[in-house]
Amino acid sequence: MQERGINSTFKKIIYESSEMVFLADDSFPYNIFYANESFEEQIGESLKEKSLVGLGLDINAYIFKEELILTHEGKDYAFRIELPQESSSNYFLFYKGKEVRTHGLPSKKEAQQFFKSSLDLIAIGQHDYLTYLNHTVHPILGYAVEELLNTSLCSFIHEDDLEEIRDVWKQTGEVERLGFFNTRFKGKDGIYRYLECSVQFTADRFFIIARDCSEKSNKKEKEAQLIALKNLAPDHVKVGTWHYDSNLEVLSFDIPASMILNCSNIIEFKKDMKGVDKEIQTAFQVQVASVKKDETNLDFSFELKNSSNQTLCFSVKSDSAVKGEKASEIIGIVWDESPRIELQQKIKLHEKLLFDSPEALLIVTQSGEIFLFNQEGRNLFGIDENEKILHLSDLNTYFEESDQWKEWIEISGTGPAVRRFSSLLVSPIGEQLTLEVASKLTLIDEKSFIQLSFRNISEKVTLEKTLEESDDFLMNLTEQVPGGLYQLVLDTEGKMSFSFLSKGINSVLGLKADEMGQFTDISVAISRVHPMDLPNVILTSVASARKQQPWQCQFRVKTNQESNDYKWILGAARPQSLENGDMVWYGYLTDITDQKQFESKLDEARKVAEKANQIKSDFLSMISHELRTPLNAISGSTYSLLQEQPNEHQKSALNTINFAVDNLIIMINDLLDFQKIEAGKLTIEENPFQLEELVNQIIKGLSFHARDSKNALELHLGEGLGIWVKGDKTRLSQVLNNLITNALKFTHEGKVDVKVQLKEQKNGKARVYFEVMDNGIGIASENQEMIFNDFDQVKPTFSKKYGGTGLGLSITRKLLNLMGGAIALHSEEGKGSSFYFDLVFNLSESQNVTPSKAIGQIAHSNHLNLLMAEDNDVNALVLGKIIKKWGFEFHRVVNGEEAVNAVKNQTYDCILMDIQMPVMDGFDATKEIKKFSQTPVIALTAAAKLEILERIEECGFDGFVAKPIDAAELLKKIREVVSESNQRA
Ligand code: ADP
Repeated sequence: MQERGINSTFKKIIYESSEMVFLADDSFPYNIFYANESFEEQIGESLKEKSLVGLGLDINAYIFKEELILTHEGKDYAFRIELPQESSSNYFLFYKGKEVRTHGLPSKKEAQQFFKSSLDLIAIGQHDYLTYLNHTVHPILGYAVEELLNTSLCSFIHEDDLEEIRDVWKQTGEVERLGFFNTRFKGKDGIYRYLECSVQFTADRFFIIARDCSEKSNKKEKEAQLIALKNLAPDHVKVGTWHYDSNLEVLSFDIPASMILNCSNIIEFKKDMKGVDKEIQTAFQVQVASVKKDETNLDFSFELKNSSNQTLCFSVKSDSAVKGEKASEIIGIVWDESPRIELQQKIKLHEKLLFDSPEALLIVTQSGEIFLFNQEGRNLFGIDENEKILHLSDLNTYFEESDQWKEWIEISGTGPAVRRFSSLLVSPIGEQLTLEVASKLTLIDEKSFIQLSFRNISEKVTLEKTLEESDDFLMNLTEQVPGGLYQLVLDTEGKMSFSFLSKGINSVLGLKADEMGQFTDISVAISRVHPMDLPNVILTSVASARKQQPWQCQFRVKTNQESNDYKWILGAARPQSLENGDMVWYGYLTDITDQKQFESKLDEARKVAEKANQIKSDFLSMISHELRTPLNAISGSTYSLLQEQPNEHQKSALNTINFAVDNLIIMINDLLDFQKIEAGKLTIEENPFQLEELVNQIIKGLSFHARDSKNALELHLGEGLGIWVKGDKTRLSQVLNNLITNALKFTHEGKVDVKVQLKEQKNGKARVYFEVMDNGIGIASENQEMIFNDFDQVKPTFSKKYGGTGLGLSITRKLLNLMGGAIALHSEEGKGSSFYFDLVFNLSESQNVTPSKAIGQIAHSNHLNLLMAEDNDVNALVLGKIIKKWGFEFHRVVNGEEAVNAVKNQTYDCILMDIQMPVMDGFDATKEIKKFSQTPVIALTAAAKLEILERIEECGFDGFVAKPIDAAELLKKIREVVSESNQRA
């Protein structure tokens, strides 16, 4: 150190200085030859080469500077420098050395290092060009630093971003300010890079730090695209995304997409893509091909049906649409449209169903705006399709009362319950209809709708009214009807109870109000029935139930529970068995006490009348008996006298007597017949007889009478009347006798013709025509109907002249009616009359029997031995004479007992038995005789009483002849019965 001329004082100062001081050679390598302790401690000791070169200093750079910064081991130290002043000094003095504190800032070196190696692009510029750029520009944008220095930046910036950048530049104000912007900067390869920039402006410069955020931005861009794509899909569908990378030639799908397309999530894009639906494969291939061909702006949607008939929708976008260059990627979305299509179809269907519903429907909002008004609704109101009805108030004109709709849509607290209203509507044709409006609140997506349905209930209302009326009517009827109505049920367990009782039951059964309730029990009802009538009530009820036949019963019930008075009740019911096995009677009870009283009065009256009738009958019987007895005597005596050759005068007198007696006999016979017919006791017999013979007999029998009345009586018989027919020849004779007698009576010196003709004969029947015609006085037309009435004659005075009772024609008509014929009359006053009728007879098979022949045979036999039982001597005398005249023998007894004994002792051919006799009457005697003998018995009686005639038959008589006895009739009867008896024997 010495040799350099540095004195020790200087050295001492240096040495003791707290600041670093060192001295270095002024020639290469500028060795540090003296340093103080401070320097040694901080720098010197750790220096490998103790020289300025070792410290990394280029001393030339500091020649004109008074200070230099020295960096050692990451620390900066500042030194003042003293260059050699004189030629003798050949060293540099570095003094006042101290560490430069950077307070965390990098050192210059570090800063430079940072600038050089930063991943961010750092640039400094002025106006619109750069003056500094770090080297990061190359990896980011591909340029060398020099290529961008001092060139206008605008040409590199994406035209769309220029505006924004200009704005950032233009902003003035503070001298030092910051700005931020993002921009697309064209790289050397022509591709824009996204740069995120912050810029600091100073007075004349700007400093930019920019970072490449292309990746992030592309990702964002892609996301934005996907979102945009996804927005294309309808709401609420599950959207899958897929992406095609043209570099890798793969298709990748997210999970939803692979589920929708039913494939794995990465598929190599080849001709045949495994596991992908054929249709979809084709679609992808077409799309990718078109992307490759078109190369730019791929942005479209399409739809296809896969093999499972699902409708799939695709929306596609390529990255070229963003970058304006050849697409390297395609992104897309896919969703299954089928559920939505199905849903749409469903909605359409529901809409259609609502619209076409057979119910008139209206759907409205809570404020009455119409949301749906279906066709039936329009029909109901008569609103044309084109007419717009937007609000419920538009319907006001159709209703009798306006604003009723407000009530319908009022939302009550009851929620979705259906509320019903009734409204009067005037139909399109002016009819008044009753509508039932049903209103229901429905919430859809928190929106309230009100469904209104309208139903025409006019018919129902009318029906209900009619029902109500008929109900009232029936109610009135059941209440007003005399008596009471009830319904009685017999259930399957045998329990009987009333299921209905009308109010009337109260009064019929004399029930008190409180009894009515208990009365449903049948036993209560039964306890009220009269004990004598109860068996009948029960028996008839049981029979009705068994046979299911209507029940009717008259019985007595107590007027009230306490009393012992009874009233008469008529009960009637009709049973019906129900499906459940129960039996129901619908019936009524009515008070017939009054009727019963009336009936009993009637019964009494009837008994009185019957008694009177009996008296009349008895009287008639008695009178005829009393008349017949003397008539018998007169007739018998006259007959005897005429047999004893009287002189002419006597003979005339006797004939007059005979005529009078005959007339009387006819009259009595008529009366008896009339009574018999009236009482319905006359029966028509069916016995065989020959028509021709009968008619001949009748004419023959009347020929004397004809001669007497100076009339010609002629019979005109038609062909074929020799037939045997079955009928009542006695009654037919009576009819013809009546008509011929009348004709002879009302004709003087004229002609009476009797015509009989066989009109038809077939099927075992013969129709025969009878006519009695005269040319007498005739009958005035006004009297022609009257003469057939009972006791009627043309003029009562006639009877004086002609006799008669006026009963003949009445009896004739009635007899013919009984025989199945009908009499007709043709007559002219003064010219004559004709009575005619038809009768149908059954043909008889026993034609060969000719009883007349048998009678004839017997008639010729004179050996008949008769028993006469007759208590009256006159009668016995007359009858005896007649019998003698016939040449028969007889034995007389005077009572029944004698008669019985006589028959026991002797044999008779026939017994003539009087009825009324002392000791034993004719009835008892005949009964006795018939017990042991076959001898025929003929009753002789003057009695006309029907009962007697009936008893005659009962007691076994073989015949009957009325007193006064007609001799010829008696002979005929004797012959008949004897012949029959012989035949039997
Ligand atoms: P009557 O016993 O009085 O004859 P009818 O009933 O036989 O009673 O006759 C009734 C009346 O009819 C007679 O009274 C008579 O006036 C009239 N009449 C009946 N037949 C004839 C006839 N053939 N010619 C004229 N009048 C007749």
